[in-house]
Amino acid sequence: MLFIDPHAHMTSRTTDDYERMRQAGIVALIEPAFWLGQPRTEAGSFKDYFSSLVGWERFRASQFGIRHYCTIGLNSKEANNEPLAEKVMELLPLYICKEGVVGVGEIGYDDQTAAEDKYFRLQLDLARENNMPVQIHTPHRDKKTGTIRSMEVCLEHNIAPGMVIVDHNNEETVRDVLDRGFWAAFTIYPNSKMGNERMVEIVKQYGTERIIVNSSCDWGISDPLSVPKTAALMLEKGILEADVRMVCYQNALTAFGQSGQMQESDWLENTEVDQREKFSDNSVLRGGQTPVIGEIESSNDLPSNLIR
Ligand SMILES: [Zn+2]
Repeated sequence: MLFIDPHAHMTSRTTDDYERMRQAGIVALIEPAFWLGQPRTEAGSFKDYFSSLVGWERFRASQFGIRHYCTIGLNSKEANNEPLAEKVMELLPLYICKEGVVGVGEIGYDDQTAAEDKYFRLQLDLARENNMPVQIHTPHRDKKTGTIRSMEVCLEHNIAPGMVIVDHNNEETVRDVLDRGFWAAFTIYPNSKMGNERMVEIVKQYGTERIIVNSSCDWGISDPLSVPKTAALMLEKGILEADVRMVCYQNALTAFGQSGQMQESDWLENTEVDQREKFSDNSVLRGGQTPVIGEIESSNDLPSNLIR
């Protein structure tokens, strides 16, 4: 079975993760622009980060047989540094139309401040003007209020719900998101409230329409195999293969494919890897290593299905 992880911060991950993800069946992923842990102090840091998302990281993923896409945006946390946010807003139009950019994201609310609201709205306008999907980060604190507010603001800015992927949902928010016609994405984190056993129950209860599973793996405690592990657990718990495919592959493709930048042929054709390739004179190889050349096989064999 093939998988898409539509929320993975690969900049923070290693080549081992790329290898394991591909072996487990992940053929494409989306890296949303986000906060890096260390607050940025210069617009130039954002510029290089965005360039890396459409350049080096895209190349690095390709060396392990994975198609890399990204969403570009000013994250809610750093929107609170207004002088910097103003400069980042000037950069965004230069990046959102680049190859492999499938949306504006991840944007939304963190602490739900006035500055966050201002830059969220400006970026929604940018997305609408360019007919791009929007990937929304919902706040971890006061989640239900923040989620509903995010959707209401999208509607105020005339964004069609079908163009918006609302992320980090849970049992408290899923009904509101689906009822309004938005996409409901779920991040499966280890040692958190949203483990994959709960995800199985959500699919059993709500079905598969507009529901998406992701790992949101980043520099924190997270699991880049969340999507294949959740898929394996769903199959084990009796969910039909066609339904698993819907929430772990097809829905992400349908939602982000609306950008016109992501299609199945991207990874079904040209499946050969050649690790001798270089990007700006850099390769993923170190001295004496044997490059992988040719097809990468996936096995869907996982040491464990469970994420608790
Ligand atoms: Zn994220």
